[in-house]
Amino acid sequence: MTRILPAGCLLLAIATALPAGAAEPAATQLAPLLPQMSAWRRDFHQHPELSNRETRTAKIVAEELRRMGYEVRTGIAHTGVTGVIKGGRPGPKLAIRADMDALPVSEEVELPFASKAKGEYLGKQVAVMHACGHDAHMAMTLGVAAALAKQRRDLPGEVMFIFQPAEEGAPPGEEGGAPLMVKEGVFEALRPDAIFGMHVVSTLPVGTVAVREGGAMASSDTFRIVVKGRQSHGATPWAGVDPIVTAAEIVTAAQTIVSRKLDINKEPAVVTFGIFDGGSRFNIVPERAELQGTVRAFDEDMRQQALASLRDITTHVAAAHGATVELQVPLSVDSSNPVNYNDPALTRRLRASLQAALGAEHVEEARRWTASEDFPHFGRAIEVPSVYFFVGATPPDSDPATAPGNHSPKFFLDEGALATGSTAMLQAALDYLEAGKN
Ligand SMILES: [Zn+2]
Ligand SMILES: [Zn+2]
Repeated sequence: MTRILPAGCLLLAIATALPAGAAEPAATQLAPLLPQMSAWRRDFHQHPELSNRETRTAKIVAEELRRMGYEVRTGIAHTGVTGVIKGGRPGPKLAIRADMDALPVSEEVELPFASKAKGEYLGKQVAVMHACGHDAHMAMTLGVAAALAKQRRDLPGEVMFIFQPAEEGAPPGEEGGAPLMVKEGVFEALRPDAIFGMHVVSTLPVGTVAVREGGAMASSDTFRIVVKGRQSHGATPWAGVDPIVTAAEIVTAAQTIVSRKLDINKEPAVVTFGIFDGGSRFNIVPERAELQGTVRAFDEDMRQQALASLRDITTHVAAAHGATVELQVPLSVDSSNPVNYNDPALTRRLRASLQAALGAEHVEEARRWTASEDFPHFGRAIEVPSVYFFVGATPPDSDPATAPGNHSPKFFLDEGALATGSTAMLQAALDYLEAGKN
């Protein structure tokens, strides 16, 4: 079954809902660009590329931005693209970010433009799909870029569009994503005063957006702990030091980090062990055991406290058993994402723009989401506020509670989301540029 809604419906509904006489509302400006946004999205959808391999995608993005009159840089963090436009009037500097990569997922949605693409992942040939909706992010963001370019002479300030590779994570052994773009000087072309980002989600109905002040998405710190004991016969454990028993106690003791050490009145947190690996035979106490997992938090202090506590517990439990530990907590700075923290003052301004553009009834308070994003690396690198909001993508005839989620082979994006997301972003950008950074 194909389910493609007439893409213009929602946008027209939004446009006509606005008060008569409002000066060029975002929805009106974007209406003529909607068929193009849909065409971009379908092309990207049909030709998805894995993280750090977004060469075709980046080429198209760069060509489109150049055609619109943007000053374009390419090849940042492998395939990253930026486009800068200077308005005709003085004003603040704003960055808007979209991500470009797809996932090793085999598409199960029947669409005329469904992906048949293949890629290489972990040494294997895999099917590739835009299962997280980054195809839509690019299409909406190019739509916003086109709308801003059209009013360049009257535009206050400057805008940089960041098209980022490898949001889903670089392949093992490679660097990538937002941290690498920062490292490779993404802000050399323009140092923004604020950064906006958005993501389509299955958990909201199409036509709706959601935003929250403060921690919107969790920090993510991968960790690796190697417990080193002394090998012995399983029949004579006293002759060795058992890393399996030690690691098991570390896992158990680490459960007290969230339940007994963090002030959960403030924010929630998660400590998960995803790998427990050790031993080779039933009757051998092995030399080592390895643990890997992830720590998630919505507050930077709580994040640091959880990581410190995990290091502390691990070291002391191991010492009590005569074992030693090799700690990578966190594994590396590049594999960690900070809290996706929405600056409260900027979020209040952005929410007002979204309400004006879409109607207050279409702007929800977002729930915290324990997934993480590398978007906050940008704002933290130059210490400027950022806001990240969610765009509903689930069709009206589906229940967002049960609709296939992002990363599912059945993830289905209602193209009405293109109108909603681009309208929201354009209005937020125009209001920000007009009002100045404070
Ligand atoms: Zn994703
Ligand atoms: Zn995503």
